[in-house]
Amino acid sequence: MKKKFYALSLSALIATSSLSFSPVYATGNGPDVNGNETVQTAMLTTYDEMAAFLKKEAVKQAHMGLEVIGQTVKGRDIFLVKYITDSKNPTILYLTQQHGNEALTTEGALEYIRHLGSNSKNIKEMLKNVNILIVPMFNADGAMGDVNFSLDNYMASGRHLTRYNADRLDLNRDHVNKRAPETRALHENVLQKYHIDYMIDLHHQGTQEDYFGKLTSGSVLAPYHPDVDKEVLLHSKKLAAVLLENVNSKGWGHVLKYDEPSTNTSVASNAMALQYGISVMLFEMRGMADHSYEPYVLGQKSNGYIIKQAFTAIDATAKAIADGTINTADPAVYDNLPEQHYSY
Ligand SMILES: [Zn+2]
Repeated sequence: MKKKFYALSLSALIATSSLSFSPVYATGNGPDVNGNETVQTAMLTTYDEMAAFLKKEAVKQAHMGLEVIGQTVKGRDIFLVKYITDSKNPTILYLTQQHGNEALTTEGALEYIRHLGSNSKNIKEMLKNVNILIVPMFNADGAMGDVNFSLDNYMASGRHLTRYNADRLDLNRDHVNKRAPETRALHENVLQKYHIDYMIDLHHQGTQEDYFGKLTSGSVLAPYHPDVDKEVLLHSKKLAAVLLENVNSKGWGHVLKYDEPSTNTSVASNAMALQYGISVMLFEMRGMADHSYEPYVLGQKSNGYIIKQAFTAIDATAKAIADGTINTADPAVYDNLPEQHYSY
């Protein structure tokens, strides 16, 4: 209970961005940036670079479709990347960067899009049997720090990135009211338009979550609301099992269960299951690209394995849906997964 209370009071403090933190909050295992690694955001793909890349790939890749599903508050086009060969195939949606400062999820998704263009026999075969939808950099205004509030106390050098959209709305708390144009675009032009069976909502958490002293590389959570249909929940757990088996078999993979499960119906991991019957999973990567609170920000030394982790999660789940092995995945792998610890 102490952990939960601390987490809540911390988020309340963080919500007030004018507060600056005294070093006493940055104890525990210490921030990864550690005062000797500056946090540079220059290596992260900008919105304009992403838009140019997607347009180029859509011309190059015969199977790839590219659709604009709406605009952000600041007028940036929101893209949907589509690989749809047969409407009867099972369909999975990958959503990245609802929170604009959780950027390596998008880097992983863009690498995956590039990978699908490599035209290998295996990829062609896979795409015959699964439909893949990707919405990368959903919160583009937050990702570019182009917002109607100050980010002066954020940590990064270079462009700032923030969780919120330009109007300071948290898009991942907006899936019931749908106040933001970004959220409405996703619901009206993706979730209500395509028949989606599976979804992974890709995020980043803090840097110091651990499990008995070993920092986690990420965490997963199936829908937690009690009204979620049992079949939908079962297939969410199978999706998690596929991800866990493929990511945790890598040397850098140490994914546990997310430690702050919520029954909030406005978060995607509950909303998509409740509103559309989608088997959905929240996948959190370690460390954010920018924040006002130092222990949430991961230095760029870890970017390589975190991008690989996002890529592996996408690749493994798409393959398992295409070849049907997801159906034999063991939900107990998820049920028996311990929760990570929130240790700061
Ligand atoms: Zn997030």
